[in-house]
Amino acid sequence: MSLIVQKFGGTSVADTQKILGAARKAIRAAQAGHQVVVVVSAMGKTTDQLISLANEITDRPPSREMDMLMSSGEQITIALMAIALESLGHKAVSMTGAQLGIKTDTAHMKARIKSISTDRMKQALNEGKIVIAAGFQGIDDNGDITTLGRGGSDTSAVALAAALHADECEIYTDVDGVYTTDPRLLPEARKVSQISYDEMLELASLGAGVMHSRSIEFAKKFGVAVHVRNSASDVPGSLIIETPETDSAVSGVALAKQEARLTLVGVPDKPGVAMFLFSKIAEAKIAIDMIVQNIGQDGRTDISFTVPAADLPSTLEVLQMVSDEIGAEKVEYQENVAKVSAVGLEMEQQGGVAKTMFRAISDQNINIDIITTSEIKISALVSRDDGPATLRAVHQAFKLEKVPAKIKNRPKRKAAPNGKHHSADAEVSRLAGMEDILIESVTLNQTEAQISLANIPDVPGIAAELFERIAAGGVGVDLIVQSSGRNGKAMITFTVPRKSLDKTLEVARKLAKKWKSDEPIVKPSIAILSVRGTGLRSHTGLAYRMFKRLADGSINVNVITTSERNIAITVDEVYGKKGLKLLEQEFTNDMM
Ligand code: ADP
Ligand code: ASP
Ligand code: MG
Repeated sequence: MSLIVQKFGGTSVADTQKILGAARKAIRAAQAGHQVVVVVSAMGKTTDQLISLANEITDRPPSREMDMLMSSGEQITIALMAIALESLGHKAVSMTGAQLGIKTDTAHMKARIKSISTDRMKQALNEGKIVIAAGFQGIDDNGDITTLGRGGSDTSAVALAAALHADECEIYTDVDGVYTTDPRLLPEARKVSQISYDEMLELASLGAGVMHSRSIEFAKKFGVAVHVRNSASDVPGSLIIETPETDSAVSGVALAKQEARLTLVGVPDKPGVAMFLFSKIAEAKIAIDMIVQNIGQDGRTDISFTVPAADLPSTLEVLQMVSDEIGAEKVEYQENVAKVSAVGLEMEQQGGVAKTMFRAISDQNINIDIITTSEIKISALVSRDDGPATLRAVHQAFKLEKVPAKIKNRPKRKAAPNGKHHSADAEVSRLAGMEDILIESVTLNQTEAQISLANIPDVPGIAAELFERIAAGGVGVDLIVQSSGRNGKAMITFTVPRKSLDKTLEVARKLAKKWKSDEPIVKPSIAILSVRGTGLRSHTGLAYRMFKRLADGSINVNVITTSERNIAITVDEVYGKKGLKLLEQEFTNDMM
């Protein structure tokens, strides 16, 4: 018998009428012959209100008690939903995270799912009941209630769909599907009919709040087809799948409005320092992004990165401690920043994405503070006030309001690692460590050269001009990082194929002269070490493990770029092979 998981978000169960509406959708699915599991969030803004109550008492409530408090929101909804279903004449049973058998680790407020036991759910389903599951919550080995992080009901839904081998996971929300950007910010945003797991994972992680990013990790790992749709209508929404039929260089743009940038200034430039920093950040389970390490001058370097603004206080604490310990000069931070990211699977193959994005931003006379790229995304950090205008400019520049062409005979991408058919043994191991990190490969690329431009003017249009000129020579740029350094000067580091180095260097020299900045710093042969997997950025310990392994082997890291699918670092070429070996050793047990 087919099984379907339906998840209703907060606005879709905001009052009893809406709960009845959701119950009718579930009954319709049951009448169409499916077994149905309904996952619900807390009603409307309940979770926010519960958090406010705690904050009326203290701004540092114990996280165990916060989980006790917040999980009560979902408990109300499951009961009301079951009452609604019974009142409409359908058998139903509500279950909390513990009753569902959702086991998590003990990281309160950020817990990860370890396993789900499906026996009780299956029994109820086989008795013809609709199972109503509380989203967002689980239980740890001590029997304490945990929650999965804000927006985590999506992750509960997709995880249940994976554990139960559901045929589909429907995510009912308050918009018609996944759009090219948040339709509430840009009315010209377009609903996409299909989007790949990789793009959705990256967009969600970079600020597209429509899906909890970890839910897409599950969907990809276990091959769950996710259908995002409107709870107030029956129009088809957006399918999140492995291989969409259409795509273009950029398929979506995300704005993370509330970011903060932190910089550790004057860090001793030697192996092990970055490792120490990232180990402390990872211990605090803080997910960082946009890591930029300026290449060292006078034996010292600056390391900057961004965090969600909510994590600023705890990150500052960690950073101050690290600064004292390693003898850095000081800790700086900036609160009023926003991150705009363009995401697209085909970005790599379609040069010119960087220049188009930077030109669009510079045409608005907006200055970019930090730039980082990875194979499927480019992010720019701008002042918070400039966030919406930057989003609009980038969305327009890539013509995202227009429907892209369908790709004919598109080769299927590799299927999800955990398909639908496996033996009982495989089944048990599949569900143990459900949210563990999964590494696909570690690779070494020895075809690139690296150029840094230091002391360039920190004004709009610089990155646009540089990458336009380089693209005009037909050269494809791989990694790009830019940071605004000290004294109003910025620094850009990027890599190009070695065969294009001379040509690129000519452009770089001319611009350096024009900008009265330093002579370009060239590393004619660098090695890029990449670790590929799923959910890499949000598994906070991963960057740390890479740094630790390399530092233990006395290898210094030049540049690091991160995405949910890939972490890439550059090292001097002599360390390439050794670095590869070390990283392979580090990750053998995490390989699928
Ligand atoms: P729910 O309570 O149903 O989980 P959320 O508020 O978490 O709903 O997510 C839905 C919201 O996500 C939409 O109202 C929309 O404003 C926002 N959003 C952000 N980015 C996107 C996007 N790319 N596509 C669709 N919605 C988006
Ligand atoms: N109720 C929780 C929250 O508001 C979980 C969710 O809605 O997904 O974050
Ligand atoms: Mg949500």
